[in-house]
Amino acid sequence: MHWSCPFRMIGTVSRSTQPLDCPCKPLMQKIPANNWRMTLKMIRRIWILTLFVTLLSGCGAFASVPPPVLLPPITETLTPESTPAPSPTETPLPTLTSTPLPKAERVLIVSFDGLRPDAVYAANMVNVLGLMQNGAFTLSAQTIMPSLTLPAHVSMLVGTCPAKHIVRWNEYVPQNGFALGTDIFDLAQTAGMRTVMVVGKEKLRQVTEPASTDFFEFVDKTDKIKDTTTVERLAISQIQQGFDLMFVHFPDGDLAGHENGWMSRQQLQAYTRDDVLFGMLLQALYINGMSDNTMVIVTSDHGGHDTTHGTDLPEDMTIPWIISGPGIVPGQLSTQVNIMDTAATAAFVLGLPLPLEWDGAPVFEAFGMPVDLYRKSGCLY
Ligand SMILES: [Zn+2]
Repeated sequence: MHWSCPFRMIGTVSRSTQPLDCPCKPLMQKIPANNWRMTLKMIRRIWILTLFVTLLSGCGAFASVPPPVLLPPITETLTPESTPAPSPTETPLPTLTSTPLPKAERVLIVSFDGLRPDAVYAANMVNVLGLMQNGAFTLSAQTIMPSLTLPAHVSMLVGTCPAKHIVRWNEYVPQNGFALGTDIFDLAQTAGMRTVMVVGKEKLRQVTEPASTDFFEFVDKTDKIKDTTTVERLAISQIQQGFDLMFVHFPDGDLAGHENGWMSRQQLQAYTRDDVLFGMLLQALYINGMSDNTMVIVTSDHGGHDTTHGTDLPEDMTIPWIISGPGIVPGQLSTQVNIMDTAATAAFVLGLPLPLEWDGAPVFEAFGMPVDLYRKSGCLY
């Protein structure tokens, strides 16, 4: 007879010639002949059961089998045809000429008469402090001797020491004529610019000739007679008309200092009020769309002590100097600024040629340039 090895899927052999490698052989030899058919059925059942268990294991039917690790599907990342990756040669390198420096189109110079640097804080001049925050400034700029209103303002706007402009008097003396030399208004006027002066003391007329200013007006605050207009009204009107160079002078702090003393409560209140008026000028610039391209310089002609000034005391000589506008690098200046540098810096901003005889120099540090270690020093006399 024939039988099949239960562990073999193929290979039907004769019982008498069963293969040596059949694992049933030892078992078959020990089973009685009349039971071997039943035993063969059991072996087949075991074999079927073993096969079934093996299939279940392959299907993950047991918790001991680790779950399959699913790899993320491989998706092809397509570059949109509309935006091809730029080649290195297509990316232009930045050049210095690609971003032009911001440029001011006009300059506004504001002088608070007799303003000491410490009074800026004591009077809480918020608009001046705001200008300092956004601009470049020094609280140790120096005026000239004599530290008086007219000689100092002449040095501020003519750009020279008193030895050259010769204005050492401090009253309105028409017969003395005007300051000598080429001043900032002369330069701007020659270049076809519109020049404006709005001042609180008539003697400032002697800073420059009438022909050098398109508009000049003073409001006499010394006579204590109520005026029909004010410095700030005139200045705002000129802002509305448009200007290239404007000088505005607030006299109130100096007048209060002479009457009540420097740094007195009355003087500080006067500076606080003047600061509000200055804020009105800034607002007028903003309303007329001129804030972004106007350079604003705030300074003073001298300080003061007791109820006077005019000496070479630090309290009289030290003044604030602040500049804010396009291209200015904010921060405290290390440059020793002198009052004559105001005209030179304004000329630099407006692109005007600097006269060789000027004793002042542009404050280049404010524009992010290196500090000029060889810049001109203050006046010897
Ligand atoms: Zn003064």
